[in-house]
Amino acid sequence: MFDEIKSLDNTYVANTYNRFNVAFKCGKGSTLYDFNDKKYIDFSSGIGVNAFGVCDPEWNKALTEQIARLSHMSNLYYTLPQAQLAHLLCSKTGMKKVFFANSGAEANEGAIKTARKYSHDKYNEFRSEIITLVNSFHGRTITTLKATGQDVFHKNFYPFTEGFDYAKANDIEDVKSKITDKTCAIMMELVQGEGGVLPLDKEFVKEVEKIAKEKDLILIIDEVQTGNGRTGYLYAYQGFGINPDIVTTAKGIGGGLPLGAILFNEKTEKVLGFGDHATTFGGNPIVTAGAISIIERMTPEFLESVQLKGKYIMEFCKEIKNVESVSGMGMMIGVKTNKPARDVVAKCLENGLVVLTAKDKIRFLPPLNITLEEMEEGLKIFKKVVEE
Ligand SMILES: *Cc1c(COP(=O)(O)O)cnc(C)c1O
Repeated sequence: MFDEIKSLDNTYVANTYNRFNVAFKCGKGSTLYDFNDKKYIDFSSGIGVNAFGVCDPEWNKALTEQIARLSHMSNLYYTLPQAQLAHLLCSKTGMKKVFFANSGAEANEGAIKTARKYSHDKYNEFRSEIITLVNSFHGRTITTLKATGQDVFHKNFYPFTEGFDYAKANDIEDVKSKITDKTCAIMMELVQGEGGVLPLDKEFVKEVEKIAKEKDLILIIDEVQTGNGRTGYLYAYQGFGINPDIVTTAKGIGGGLPLGAILFNEKTEKVLGFGDHATTFGGNPIVTAGAISIIERMTPEFLESVQLKGKYIMEFCKEIKNVESVSGMGMMIGVKTNKPARDVVAKCLENGLVVLTAKDKIRFLPPLNITLEEMEEGLKIFKKVVEE
């Protein structure tokens, strides 16, 4: 069966993914099976998406109940799950309003539009530039590629959207030096994910917040990867003790279906008006019904368990031979070994463990409800692969 899948895929699916040699068939929680019925422990969650693993019964129930009622209409009409999810998100964050999109890049596009419109409305059309951080990742659209502070993404697809400049992470003087009278916003991840699982310094983040307030710059926090419990906080900014003007998220919020969200505070909630932004699918009833079941379960006790499990994994990895460094926050973890990251990932797969890379590191984004047994089984495989 696998050979058939692979051959069909290689023949007919666009050649944009350098896939690993496996197709998963089914699973439960953090345990997966491929088409040869080989078992794997999942430390990837489909890149931070399956917050409660695969075949999560509560999420399945929320979806199937909603499918039986109404699968899709359109944002021309009110829908119950979307309204309830927006309420839930605002009540758990203190943010004021939510716009629902379909992905992380789209959420960031909407945030960029909002920051620019805020500045155009209040100042002038030239105050439109956005500072992001070197080594950041914000998405794959023409605009969010340019927002991404890595030169490797700024080729092949010219012309890119203008108006981005890049400051060094954890270097407040560099941020200050990039601010001009044309700057309208600062956008950053609090733990750079694709860039190598690098948490920002708390003092730096607080300083950026202060400068943004002083200069009336919109502070956008990209929580596409760090959000929805991943770092042991519902949103990582809550752990940093700041109040962003806009928070974007995606990945884990939908629990496995495409959903992005833009959260606005009191400063930004009224910037976008009728007709300024829209989407056909965004916040569709099925997706948002599923998301409610995800976000509802992110209680303080649950988030604490995420922090504890994250600590356990990090401490375990620090003791492994050939590990050079361990970084992260909650269950978003990067491990640098003395071997090429892609080789380690392939070896782990062979041995029944699914892990990711982030630059030259191995990245773990396990389902947040992974059991202790699954965690230990996975770590044992990882240790064996890295030590041999
Ligand atoms: C994954 C990611 C994105 C892009 O999200 P898509 O859903 O793939 O568009 C943007 N920002 C960050 C921080 C991400 O990790």
